[in-house]
Amino acid sequence: MVTASPVYAPPLAICVYCGAASGEDPVYATAARTLGEAMAKAGIGLVYGGGGIGLMGAVARAVLAGGGHVLGVIPEFLKAREVHLKEVTELIITKDMHERKMTMFQRADAFVTLPGGMGTLEELFEQLTWAQLGQHKKPIIIANIGGFWDPLITLLDHMGEQGFLHKAFIAGTGSPRYQIVSEAAGILPACLAQLPAKGVHAADADIARKF
Ligand code: AMP
Repeated sequence: MVTASPVYAPPLAICVYCGAASGEDPVYATAARTLGEAMAKAGIGLVYGGGGIGLMGAVARAVLAGGGHVLGVIPEFLKAREVHLKEVTELIITKDMHERKMTMFQRADAFVTLPGGMGTLEELFEQLTWAQLGQHKKPIIIANIGGFWDPLITLLDHMGEQGFLHKAFIAGTGSPRYQIVSEAAGILPACLAQLPAKGVHAADADIARKF
């Protein structure tokens, strides 16, 4: 792992998973910018995949424009394609995707999933499955912007109804391990409401050793 970084990191950071594309509906990019602006204003750092394109680029640029801290975590092979955002506050170059995802997990206090494709889904489900196995307690927010994730939510409900999800995993049962938020303005408040004081998640940092 190579770090080209300043020393300062904000007390709280949110990992945002989202598409390397912007999608068909401009409401997705608007939501990415709204979230980035709110994070910068609240002094909450962004942890993300380091890309300069699509929703990834939109959220990172909004945080930077607001004077916020952006940590980009990018594997060597993607950086080599010159698609990373050079303006990030802190850049970590990892040897592969596994190291990237673990680094993002360790540096984040919560996870937000904006609209995206297979990469975004894979990252969301990694956090959901780790949480299901009791390996972390960090908040997981599914940002259902413009109803984008409706088909996924239907599938999750179906998995629950068919007995493949633990009850605590089904949103709306009182103790969901993920929360669905439909408006960009609601994402940060939902995250903050679930975030304990910094330090409580320290035990999560050794997740690698538990697997
Ligand atoms: P997707 O949801 O399929 O668009 O994939 C989003 C994920 O793809 C990101 O979280 C990254 O893992 C990866 N990715 C694709 N393009 C880039 C890029 N230019 N820079 C960084 N990560 C990228």
